[in-house]
Amino acid sequence: MMKFIHLSDSHLGESMPLYCTPPNNWRGEGFIKNYYNALKPALRGDVDFVLHAGDLFDKQHINMDIIGRAMVPLRKIAIKKIPVFIVPGNHEREHIPGGLLLAGENIHIFSKPETIEFTVNNKKVVIAGFPYIRHESRKSFRKILKKTGWKHQVDAFNILLCHQVFEGAKVGTRNFTFRNGENVIPLTEIPQGFNYIACGHIHKQQIIKTKVVNIYYAGSTERVSFQEMNEEKGFFVVRIKDGISYPTFNRLPPTTMTIIELDTTGKEPGKLIDFFEKRISAAKPCSILRFHLKGEIELEKLKNIPLYLYKKRRDDIKVEFRKESLSILKDKRRRFYVEGTVKKKEKPSIHYRIPIDDSKERFLFTRKGMENVPTTPGIYILMNRDERVLYIGKAKSLKNRLSSYIRRKEKGNEGFYFWLKQVKICDIVTTGDEFSALFLEMSLIRSNLPPYNKQIKEFQNYVYLTVRQDTYFPTIRVVDEVKNDGNPYFGPFRKEYKIRENIKLINELFGIRPCRRNLNDSLRLFSCPLEEMGKCDAPCTGGVNPSIYQERVNRMIDFLYGYDNGQIRELEKEKEKLIRIQEFEKASDLQKRIVSLTIIFNSLKKIRKTTEIHGTLSLDFGKGKRKTFPVVKGRVLWQQQTKKKIEEKFGFPPKKWELDEMMLLSSVVGSNDKCVTLDKKNSYQKKKRGLHQLKEEGAAVLGKS
Ligand code: SF4
Repeated sequence: MMKFIHLSDSHLGESMPLYCTPPNNWRGEGFIKNYYNALKPALRGDVDFVLHAGDLFDKQHINMDIIGRAMVPLRKIAIKKIPVFIVPGNHEREHIPGGLLLAGENIHIFSKPETIEFTVNNKKVVIAGFPYIRHESRKSFRKILKKTGWKHQVDAFNILLCHQVFEGAKVGTRNFTFRNGENVIPLTEIPQGFNYIACGHIHKQQIIKTKVVNIYYAGSTERVSFQEMNEEKGFFVVRIKDGISYPTFNRLPPTTMTIIELDTTGKEPGKLIDFFEKRISAAKPCSILRFHLKGEIELEKLKNIPLYLYKKRRDDIKVEFRKESLSILKDKRRRFYVEGTVKKKEKPSIHYRIPIDDSKERFLFTRKGMENVPTTPGIYILMNRDERVLYIGKAKSLKNRLSSYIRRKEKGNEGFYFWLKQVKICDIVTTGDEFSALFLEMSLIRSNLPPYNKQIKEFQNYVYLTVRQDTYFPTIRVVDEVKNDGNPYFGPFRKEYKIRENIKLINELFGIRPCRRNLNDSLRLFSCPLEEMGKCDAPCTGGVNPSIYQERVNRMIDFLYGYDNGQIRELEKEKEKLIRIQEFEKASDLQKRIVSLTIIFNSLKKIRKTTEIHGTLSLDFGKGKRKTFPVVKGRVLWQQQTKKKIEEKFGFPPKKWELDEMMLLSSVVGSNDKCVTLDKKNSYQKKKRGLHQLKEEGAAVLGKS
C-alpha cells in the first residue's frame, strides 16, 4: 500500500505586498498556515510522496520572505526522502518564482512537460507533469501530453499532475459548470491508462467521474474570494491499494467571510454609522466583512459616513464596502432632467501656438498640396477638418515624410497610422536643424496632447529612486512620483525593470538591507532566507551597528547624486586582484557589475548636472531666424515670464511632461559635439571656450551651430 498527499492552489503571497511583509497581516499568514497544515502528514513521514497541482504562489513576482517560508517545510520533507512534485499554475504565469531555490534533491518542479518514474515499496509510480497552458488547451491537450513522454505502463500507478479546467468542473456559489471554451478540456481527450488525475485551478473541492478515470480537484487550501465563502477547504490524502485509489478529504480551517446587505434608502448617516459600528465590533477575529450597500443615498450624506475609517477600525478583520448597487444622488435638481435634454459640450478645436508664429505654413493634406512642402528639417502638425491637432511629428526632410504618409493613405494600408484618414490639413514649421525640430516637437506635443502621439503615454512611465530616511535602517526604493517629504530623490528613469535590477547591485555594494520590512514595528521572528544566503548583514537582529549603517547610507547617497564613485574604483581593484590569481570567472562577473554600476552612476550624474543648468537654449527656425529660451533648473521656459513666476513654476518636483525635455537636455550635456555656446553678453567669446569651462561657470547653453 502507498499513500500520498494531493493539494493545490495554496496561493502563498496572497495579500502580501511584493517588497515587505506588513505586521499583523493575518490574511496573508492564513494562507501560509493552511499550507503548513496540509503538509503536516508529510512532515510526520506518514506519506510516500506529495503532489502540488499548481498555484503554489499567488503571483509570478513574490516577496522573498514568502519563497523562504514555502521552502522550509518542503526541505524538511525532502530530507526525509519523501519526493515532492510541483506543477506551475496560472497565477505563477507558468513558472514557479524562485524555482531554482525551491528545487533540489527530492523536490521536482515540472517547468516543462515531462514524465518521472520512481518506486515506492517495490511498486512503480509514473507521474506525467503537465505545466499550465494558458491558451487553447482544448486543442493542444493531447499534443502537450505527448510531449511529456508518458506511456501507459500496466504494472505502474499512472498519475497525471496538471492545473487545467476539465469539462464538468463546477465553480462559485451557483455551481457554474464548464462545458465549452477554448481552455476547457473535453473528457473525451483523456487517454486510457491513468489511475489518478491530480488537478488544480478550480478552487472548489470536487471529483469529476469519467469512464476512464476520475479527476480529483483538491480545491484551494484557503478561501480566496467571496465566491468561495461557503466552500470547505482542504486537501486529499490518497491511499492506493491494489492499484485502486481511496482519497479522503482532510479539512483545513478557512477564513470566515460574511456579506451584510443594507438598504440605505431614507436612512440618516447617524443610523448607518451605528449599524456599521455594531457589526464591525461583533465580527469574528480574522474574518472578512463585506457590506453590500443598496438603494439610494445622497452624495452629501455618504460623504458624512467615514467608510474608509471603518477599514482601519479593527486590524484583525478586513472590511469592504460594495457600492455597485447603490444609486448615489449627486444633485437633486439633476434628477428631474429628462435624459438626452442636456446638450453635450462640444470640444473646442485646439489652436496650437508656436514660438515664432510667422514661420508656420499651411498645406492641404493631398498629393498636390504636398508639392510645395520644402525638403528641410522641421515639424509637421496634422489636423482634421475642424483644425483639431491629431499628430505632431518631426522629420529630417518634411517633404519626404509627408509624401510617404500620402502614399500610405492612397494605398489604403495605413495600419498603425489608421488615423491618417481623418487628416485634412497639415501645418509645417521649418527649422535649421534636427535638434531644434526635436525640441520644438516635444514642446508642442506637451502643450497640445495630440491623441495619436505615443510620447504622451510615455509621460506617465517615469520612475525615481528614493532613500527612505524616515525608516529605521533606511532602504532604497523605486517610486513613481516625487514628494516634498525630505527624502532625497534620484532620477527620473524610464526603464523600471532595469532600475529594479540595479537596486540589487547598489544594495550589495553599500551593504544596505534589501527588504522593506518595517523594522520599527516588528521584530523578525522567523528565519530570513536573505540572511542565510549572505545577501543581508541582518541589521534587524543587530548584525550592523546603526551608526555604521548610517555611514553606508550616506555613502550610497553620495554615489546616487553622482558625486563619489569610490566604491566602483574599489571593485576595479578587486577585479584586478582576481585576474592576478587567475579567477577569471569571478573577475568577469565582477566586470559585469562594474559596467552596470558605472552606467547608473554616469546617468545619475548627468541628471544631477541637468537640474543644475541655468542658461539659455537657442533654437534655429531656419531662414536666419533664431530664438533663445531661458533654461531654469534644467527646464526650458517657452514663454517669457517674471523671475518670481519662473521660480514658482519651476519649483521642485518637475512635472512629468517636463521630464522628456530634461532628459533630452541631459543627453545633450553629455555630448560635446551637439553643444554650442551662447551667452547673452558675449556669444562669440564664449563660443571659443570649451564646454567644460562653461558648465563650471553655470552657463550651459545648448543648440546646434
Ligand atoms: S535579515 Fe536583512 S533582509 Fe532579512 S529581514 Fe533582516 S534586514 Fe530584512
